[in-house]
Amino acid sequence: MFRTPKGTHDVLPEDHQYHTYIKKVVRHRCRQAGYKRIDPPMFEHKGVFQRAIGEHTDVVEKELFTVTGKRDGEGEAREFALRPEFTAGICRSYIEHGMQQLAQPVELYSIGQCFRYDRPQKGRYRQFHQIDLEVIGLRDPSIDAQLIHVITKILSDLRILDRMTLQMNNIGTAENRKAYVEALKDFFIGKERQLPEDDQRRLKTNPLRLLDSKEEDTRILIKNAPKLEQFLDDESKKYHETLLEYLDELGITSVPNPGLVRGLDYYCQTVFEFWDSSTGAQNAVGGGGRYDGLIEILGGKPTPGVGYAGGVERMIWHMKEAGVQAPNKDQVDVFVAQLGPEAKKKCLTLVSELRDLGVHTLGALGEASLKSQMRLADKFEARYTLMLGKLEVKEGTIIVRDMKAGKQKQMALKDAVPEIIKLLGKENLDTYVMRDHVGED
Ligand code: AMP
Repeated sequence: MFRTPKGTHDVLPEDHQYHTYIKKVVRHRCRQAGYKRIDPPMFEHKGVFQRAIGEHTDVVEKELFTVTGKRDGEGEAREFALRPEFTAGICRSYIEHGMQQLAQPVELYSIGQCFRYDRPQKGRYRQFHQIDLEVIGLRDPSIDAQLIHVITKILSDLRILDRMTLQMNNIGTAENRKAYVEALKDFFIGKERQLPEDDQRRLKTNPLRLLDSKEEDTRILIKNAPKLEQFLDDESKKYHETLLEYLDELGITSVPNPGLVRGLDYYCQTVFEFWDSSTGAQNAVGGGGRYDGLIEILGGKPTPGVGYAGGVERMIWHMKEAGVQAPNKDQVDVFVAQLGPEAKKKCLTLVSELRDLGVHTLGALGEASLKSQMRLADKFEARYTLMLGKLEVKEGTIIVRDMKAGKQKQMALKDAVPEIIKLLGKENLDTYVMRDHVGED
């Protein structure tokens, strides 16, 4: 028997209720703030991620899900990678489509699958979903503050904001970090052996990661190491102070976290994460920061940007923990039971008419007995059952049964549809305006 590959899972109907709800909230809050939807492809040339995220980051070094293309014509087969996140692809798209010509900042959002070939564990999968928001083209603390504000609105709509703390740091400019990394390397001269193997490697390739290492030995050593804060220039300090003032103005509280660096190379200045208040970094629900150098690294003109990515599975986990029910829109309103060829024919149009009016309708159009059809209606948890037997067809009537109350009444067939609409209430019908559906899934 086949099973899903390790680190992947089926999104079953009961979880889709949560996915749909989260998408709705994100769309709603993003639209309010002027963001437009973008979907970069699920895979890109591997170089996009290598360049943007950095060769020596965990995401590229260990977790990139690579795909080798076929050889087309001459030369080597191309190397692709499934997207481990959205930022790199969206910035590639910004350059490719000349979005610097548009009014700035360009605000974009996306929702979809990401892939990381990590060791699967609780809350860490090889295929997972992210929501992603990016604001490209302007550099101002008010932009960072507004992005964080939209995210808090989303988390608050999902009723999980109070389970999180917002961790904030400023990691300065690339020059600041360069000077700091030198100091950090100097500090560790002679102490390398005291570091666990992984962190010894990080010291060589990406020393900043030592700051948020989870290894106890590293954490003890890092306490006496020089602090990144001491290397920040005045502008970075001022930027951060102003951002905190703006957040305060918006009623957003945060926790200063000097150890927060985020794993990816492209960040500068503002970095932030939303942590589970009880478990901390292990289960971050999302994070982001400013990436003023990224577009240039990818071959565009120097263009500032700031963004955020949140893990959908982790949001769902929090919603369930908090007892938040996603609305179930899959309920069966009416089950139509029938007996005999004439009744069956009439039921076809009845079912279709009800569905067109926005009533979720199932029809038992097989040959089962009325009794077993009623059992089926129960299993589907239908609210009402319409029963049309041979006798009713002859009389031009139908039976309407309230399944919960266990009561039924007979009425003229032509009155059945208006009766159902009245019972359900017009406001509960599943109708839609076309405008809401164009171009969205
Ligand atoms: P990152 O940019 O790596 O901090 O990822 C942003 C968010 O995506 C994280 O805070 C998680 O909520 C989520 N995430 C990242 N990697 C995974 C994964 N392997 N499985 C599930 N969620 C993930």
